[in-house]
Amino acid sequence: MKNICLADFFQSPCAVSLRVTFHTGSCEEESVIAATCRREGGALVVIASETPFHPRDYQWPDQPEDLGYAEDGRGRRYEVADAIFVAVSPGGDFHADRDIPVRKNSPGWNYFAGHVIRDEDASLTAGERVLLRADAERRLALSRAHSASHLMGPALNRALSGLWRKDPGRTDALGANDFDQLAIESSSISELLCTDSYHIGKSMRKRGFAAEPLAANLRLYEDGINDLIARWQSEDSAITIRAEGDSLASRRYWRATLGGKEAEMPCGGTHTRSLSEIGQVRVSLEMPDNETLIIRTYVR
Ligand SMILES: [Zn+2]
Repeated sequence: MKNICLADFFQSPCAVSLRVTFHTGSCEEESVIAATCRREGGALVVIASETPFHPRDYQWPDQPEDLGYAEDGRGRRYEVADAIFVAVSPGGDFHADRDIPVRKNSPGWNYFAGHVIRDEDASLTAGERVLLRADAERRLALSRAHSASHLMGPALNRALSGLWRKDPGRTDALGANDFDQLAIESSSISELLCTDSYHIGKSMRKRGFAAEPLAANLRLYEDGINDLIARWQSEDSAITIRAEGDSLASRRYWRATLGGKEAEMPCGGTHTRSLSEIGQVRVSLEMPDNETLIIRTYVR
């Protein structure tokens, strides 16, 4: 990225502790700008002392970015048209989103949420106060879909538990063989819908998974998953996020009680506060071919 206010960034009193708060459910923070830079094409990227914005993950972009606005001290509002990961190398070089050359939590690297403002005249600068507000309606719709997907995964694993001919060597948060994590190829969350794609190829068969009974009884398994999710939701556990720190790259975990058992799963996204707040969940299974399982998790 070009025209980086590196000096401002490192002299800023808040540079050492840039906090994210999206995982607490927050959609609004009074903040101070820690650094700004211009991307090729002119967009301004703002990094702030505290942000409620959930940026799109650059490694596993399942939950889309929050949108909203930034308001400066004079009441001028700028649309936040994208929220991305920004990584700063040990040498002070900035990299954004897909251009980040290292994995998360690489030694010496720092990771921040970048608020993208596509206004060439935007004059936000380091040290200035700014109000950051994420669109709460969009956040809730994404959180409901994301929380529903955290019910679908373990419910799927339980429903398919009879299809393993041997122990695949990996279990989920509730102790079932982890089909979800072993076969997942992509996961895409949108407002009120999560679409997961699984590949049941050679390596899954080698691990002992029998795909044929699944293909032959797809509706049966679908019903099993939906029944289990409804049962879990009727107990209406709270959903909490356990965070190991409050910076963007800190490890965070989704927690809820499912069927009387405490479940904890790594997750960097946003969620509802309880299982009932998700609303009605409906899962549908489709196998377009023998090696592909597509699961759509709808919320309403
Ligand atoms: Zn998640």
